Order: sequence, then structure tokens, then C-alpha cells
Amino acid sequence: MKKINILFAASECTPFIKTGGLADVAGALPSYVNTANYEIRVVIPKYSALPKKYTDKMEYMCNFYVPLGWRNQYCGLFKLKIGKVTYYFLDNEYYFKRDNLYGEFDDGERFAFFSKAVCEAILHMDFEPDILHCNDWHTALAPVFLREFYRDAEKTRDIKTIFTIHNIKFQGMFSSFLLGDILGLWGTPAAWQLLSDSHTVNYMLGALCYSDRITTVSPGYAEEICSWYYGEGLEYILNKRKSILSGILNGIDTKVYDPEKDKALAVNYGASSLEKKKENKLALQRETGLEVSEEVPMFALISRLTEQKGLDLVTYILPHISERNMQLVVLGVGDQKYEEAFAYYAGRYPGKICFLKKFDEAQSHRIYAASDAFLMPSRFEPCGLSQMMAMRYASLPIVRETGGLKDSVAPYNKYTGEGTGFSFANFNAHELLGAVDEALTLWFNDKEAWTHLMHNAAEADFSWKSSAKEYRELYKHLIQG
Ligand code: ADP
Repeated sequence: MKKINILFAASECTPFIKTGGLADVAGALPSYVNTANYEIRVVIPKYSALPKKYTDKMEYMCNFYVPLGWRNQYCGLFKLKIGKVTYYFLDNEYYFKRDNLYGEFDDGERFAFFSKAVCEAILHMDFEPDILHCNDWHTALAPVFLREFYRDAEKTRDIKTIFTIHNIKFQGMFSSFLLGDILGLWGTPAAWQLLSDSHTVNYMLGALCYSDRITTVSPGYAEEICSWYYGEGLEYILNKRKSILSGILNGIDTKVYDPEKDKALAVNYGASSLEKKKENKLALQRETGLEVSEEVPMFALISRLTEQKGLDLVTYILPHISERNMQLVVLGVGDQKYEEAFAYYAGRYPGKICFLKKFDEAQSHRIYAASDAFLMPSRFEPCGLSQMMAMRYASLPIVRETGGLKDSVAPYNKYTGEGTGFSFANFNAHELLGAVDEALTLWFNDKEAWTHLMHNAAEADFSWKSSAKEYRELYKHLIQG
């Protein structure tokens, strides 16, 4: 088989820069896919916030100019190889020497530049991609540009494109003025497809129209986004292109999230030594001022505090939680209304409820290890990693049956005793409370059944290996037809 080369374009990538799950995917997937017959190389912007230890080692390759409407913008091309993966960085200080990755007044122009620069960079790279794999709205214009402006060049003519949706809520919608002024697409057949309406240009819509394959980060979410409730206005085009749409579940880094070796924990444990897990609960209770007792179940929530994560349901049941024999630890920052609700209840019930208002990676590991159950009642969830991390640490997730949560958590079946967590169907606080009560009843009345679920959860396979295999299949099908 001829080797398949893939250029993976993303706006963030670990270990260089991260604001969310996209960076984890870009950081982990290539090293798992790269084998004798496949090579993924990654391209991201050269943000000024990239750590110096990486920028110092980058090799400058060349520079070129990127046509952007009536402009011609400078772009430097840098390269760095770490382990099995080669990374390219596109440099333009006007666009990427900023305080924030996103949320700048000219994001529409910055990421149109990046998408166009990716196409232009291919002409100058020491790499011949067969596939350009783009991710989320920041790179959504690259499949459009590739077809509209690069089909005459030999190196870019036959490149196939894949677009992966990590979150359909963020589509990259800007004034239609950009269509001619920045994108240079005014008067081309592309224009009408890109316009959501006469005032707005929608970058993600462009990728959905132009890409050869569309994927998202779980099979469940791939189904859901074809519906009105989850489709965020793009369901009509997704339905039209359903034959090329599929979902591949993300994995987690099982080396970083490994309770047997995790240095952040008070006591290490594994699937064969789950009895040691409770030492972590006692340690966290001491650390956070909760009542110190093995005999009370500890529930946890580690999340961005936003509406997506179902926090309206959680805050609604806080009075009920405070009446039950249980503890709740919340780690997160986000919307003020949720922060205030958790702070209020933590202040009122200090031995039972604890709110840690911060982003703290090590603390999150200690909480996964200490807790018995993990709340994740999301309104929607493209994939979700926290529930997988919780299971790996034998904390049983309580999830709403949506997207990746539904695909990764097997709900407890009281007849067979099988499962890896608990779930409920509708976005309703009483259903969440029902699932919490189901978990509490089992924890107090049937320790054997609970321990069996802990084993199932801790032994479930959420490594990148199986996802990488599916991506390899996808790449192969796309090239071989
Ligand atoms: P999303 O990407 O939508 O925020 P995921 O479940 O995919 O949700 O990933 C969330 C990741 O962020 C997990 O690794 C989780 O442990 C981590 N995380 C969220 N909030 C915090 C926090 N306050 N401190 C430390 N880690 C956090």
C-alpha cells in the first residue's frame, strides 16, 4: 500500500497551546495514527504565546505571501519534530501576536488568513499531503479555498479534504462584507453556499459544502446534529450530506490519566487494587474541609461552568443534595450565576459541599481519584472527556444520554448488574435527581454491585488506539475509494 500523507490543520494543539478538547485531539491523534503506511503532520498558527522552549527549537523553512482579498499578507513557515510527529507553524505577527487565541475583533480575518495560509503553505512544504484534515470553524475555509484557488497547482490539485466538527455551536459567523474583502470569493459559485443569509458568512457551512468527508467526535453526536434540536441551523446541509458524515469517539491519554502511576494522587491504585481508592477520598476530605469519613459517598463535578454542561440541573437540585447523606466537590470556573450558586451552598453546608473556583489540573486528578460518582448531565456533549477520565479512576459517571456521553457510558442494569455508570434521558432536574438517588441506593445497599461497576469502569478501553484505527480506515477509504 502506498503511504498516505495527511496534513492536520487546527487552531490549537497540545503540548504547544490549549484552550479545550480540540488541542487534546490534535496533540494525541497523530502519534497514534503514524505508522508505516500513514503519516499525519500538524499545522497550527505560530501564536506569540507558544512556550519559548518550543519556539527556540523550531527550524525556519521559508516565507511566502498569502493573497487575502485585495491584500497580500506575509507568512513564515517553521517546523519542529517531536517524537513521531512533525509540526508546522505559520507565522504572521499581525494576526497571531495577540493576548488571546480567540475573541479578538478580527477573528474572521485572522482565521481566514490561517486557512488560506495552510493551502499556500502546502506549495512550500517538504511534504506532499494526500489529505487535508481540517478541524472546527478556524480551518473551515481551507477546503473551500483549496477547491476555488488551488485546483490548478499540481501539488494541491488532487488533495482530498476532511472536516471534523468538535462543537457545532461555534460556526464562525461574520459579516458578509468579508466574503469579497477578505475571502476574495465574491462572484464565485462558492459565495452563495457560504452565505447563511444576506448579512452573514458562515465558515463552517463552507466546509460542510466543500469537504469530501465530514466527521464529528462521537457517533451519537453525528446522529444528533442532523436534528433541529442539536443542529444549530446546519441540520439541513448535514442531512443532505449524511452519506459522508460519520462519528469517531475521541480517546484520552491513558498515560497521563493512570491511577496506578499518577503522581498527583495521595495513594495510587488500579483495577486490581480498588480498595486503596478510599485513601484518596479521606485525603481530599482533609484537604478541602469536608467531613472526614469513608462512610459517606462523594460526588464530583469538574467542568467549565457553562450552560452546555447541564449546570442548571445541578444547581436546581443543590437543596436536595444538601438534604442527602452525600458529599459534593465542584471544581470549575465559568458563568457567574453558577459560581454564585455553588459558592452559596458550599458556604451554607461546609462539611458536605465544597466549591473550588479555579482551573487546577493536579487537583482535578485528585478529585477523579477521590470521588465515588461523577456528575455530567450535559445539555449536549460532542464527545466529552471528563466522563472517560472519571471511569478510568473508577468514579462512576452520572450522565445525560446525549452525544459522546451516551456512546461511552453503559448505564447500570439492575437485572444483569452490568454497566459503567448511571444515566437519564431528558434534560430535566428531577431525572438527574432520580439518577443520583439510584446511585446512592446502590452505594449504600449493595457494595458488591457497586464494586463490580467500578471494575467495569476502570477496565473500559478509552485509549486512542481504537479511535486511531478508525481514522486510518477513514483515510484509506477516502484515498482508495
Ligand atoms: P470540554 O472540552 O467541553 O470542556 P471535556 O469533558 O471534553 O469538556 O474536557 C474537559 C477537560 O477539562 C477535562 O480534562 C477536565 O478534567 C478538564 N477541566 C475542566 N475544568 C477544569 C478545572 N476547573 N480544573 C482542571 N481541569 C478542568
